[in-house]
Amino acid sequence: MPGEGPDDAELMVVGEAPGRFEDEQGRPFVGRAGQLLDELLAEAGLARGDVFITNVVKARPPGNRDPTKAEVAHWMPVLEAQLALIAPKLVVPLGRHALAHFSDRKIADVHGRQITERGRVLFPLYHPAAALYNQSLRATLFEDARALRTALSQR
Ligand code: URA
Repeated sequence: MPGEGPDDAELMVVGEAPGRFEDEQGRPFVGRAGQLLDELLAEAGLARGDVFITNVVKARPPGNRDPTKAEVAHWMPVLEAQLALIAPKLVVPLGRHALAHFSDRKIADVHGRQITERGRVLFPLYHPAAALYNQSLRATLFEDARALRTALSQR
């Protein structure tokens, strides 16, 4: 499941790995976390069709377990090729696993603001799946999406 979006997207959203619904439909973020992602993008002034959406790991880990280090390493060249081809101005890693691909910093320290790491401009957000059953995290995600809207308007 490679991901989807315009090949000249200025913003690239990077999740962790496809879940069951993504695996079945061959599209990223189509389940409940995806619905929340759509709402967050809207809060940031973006439509899903404006952005490229993909995952660090392109195949569903069986039983929804966390991807292994070997799986992450296996898919790394594909993610890097996508980043090189699409050349987004801003990358939005979702959650700590995606952030780990781009930065050694902790999601709790850098969510909701723009940081530059290894020449890449990032705007990390918590993973929307983590907010499905956590109202305070949900509020933080919407606050961070509004901060993303401000960051985008200042570019
Ligand atoms: N969670 C992810 O990290 N990626 C998806 O595509 C769906 C759910």
